[in-house]
Amino acid sequence: MFKLSKFGEKFSQESGIVSLMEDLGTALNENPDLIFMGGGNPARIPEIEDYFHQRLKHITESNDDRFNLLSVYQSPQGELQLRKEMASYLSRRFQWEITEKNITFANGSQSAFFTIYNLLAGEMPNGEKKKIHFPLAPEYVGYANAGLSDLFFSSTKPDIELIGDDMFKYHVNFEQLKVNDNIAALSVSRPTNPTGNVLTDEEINQLDALAKQHNIPLIIDGAYGLPFPNITFVEVKPHWNDNTILVLSLSKLGLPAVRTGIVIANEEFIEQFTRVNTICNLATSSTGPTLISGIFNNDEITTLTQTVRHYYQTKVEFVTQAFKKALTGIPYRIHVPEGAIFIWLWLQDLPITSNELYQKLKSKGVLVIPGEEFFIGLDEWQHKKECIRISYAQSPEKITAGINIIQQELKALYQVE
Ligand code: PLP
Repeated sequence: MFKLSKFGEKFSQESGIVSLMEDLGTALNENPDLIFMGGGNPARIPEIEDYFHQRLKHITESNDDRFNLLSVYQSPQGELQLRKEMASYLSRRFQWEITEKNITFANGSQSAFFTIYNLLAGEMPNGEKKKIHFPLAPEYVGYANAGLSDLFFSSTKPDIELIGDDMFKYHVNFEQLKVNDNIAALSVSRPTNPTGNVLTDEEINQLDALAKQHNIPLIIDGAYGLPFPNITFVEVKPHWNDNTILVLSLSKLGLPAVRTGIVIANEEFIEQFTRVNTICNLATSSTGPTLISGIFNNDEITTLTQTVRHYYQTKVEFVTQAFKKALTGIPYRIHVPEGAIFIWLWLQDLPITSNELYQKLKSKGVLVIPGEEFFIGLDEWQHKKECIRISYAQSPEKITAGINIIQQELKALYQVE
């Protein structure tokens, strides 16, 4: 009805992240019979739920806290005391040279990425066009439509290491990774959504050196990772220095509904980010920051992350074994699940595309995510159409039911008895 601007057309069209969240909404809020193994909603972990419910109760019983929770606009950079606590924790634990001036809050890390990417890339003041580059695709589908201009992202095709008969792992292909003047920043998620890959310390150090050499930032998305919520099953070090933009989130700690993202970067970038965030959001929500205030003072954060990590680690072992059993006879490989909350399944020589497989599974009542859209900015490659992402955040009963449906569908497709 209304004529849309270029922005309007670009941002209101169908996209991977929009249909992913529509599926999520249908499955989790409207049609609970669907087996939801799609979007990244975190699991219900009883200890974590109890912990935040107790805190909420405590907050609502105190007049001052209750008032702060609901009735004041927070200062643009976010609550000062919490930023101080967090900075002191990070410098104590990891010897990062960081103060409250290096930290700012956002309404979810999704919105933080929109701001960060468009601050750095797109049309430059001199008319040049710059891109955000993913050193390793597949990467998080939620980035794919976040650029204000077209052709906003590029990626490097990964190296694939085949492990045993049925596993594999992506590595950054540093020989292919060429940083030129068109690249505004390097960006990685660690652990990676969708694959559960965790870039090694060596890979991160090399990316850090490359970014510094070209005078561009290295953006690290720690939504699942380090230092918190730390859903990692391999030992790696958190990384930050003043050339890094580290983006964290409270969502996978169990608080996706409070919409709290955290950006840690050099002071100048934090100021720039905060100004944009003020124009777009005025202020960030107080709910997440109020719920976590104090947890960095007594290292309570460590207990929480250990609980979260233990929960997913136990589950991933069960799910991996269940898939291995169910998929016998099918030419599959699973990406080594080193972190996050997903299984990334590579179905070699899949007779249909992963998008078509997704549709088939959806019609049978199980939601997964097709792999194509995660290969952002990458040319044609058969592998793109052979992967699906499966979340294991649901209950073991639902997961088992979902795996059974996936097994039946794949056996029929591959004509395996
Ligand atoms: N980054 C990654 C890798 C994600 O998987 C998600 C959400 O699932 C986000 C960022 C955005 O999370 P939020 O906006 O809830 O902080």
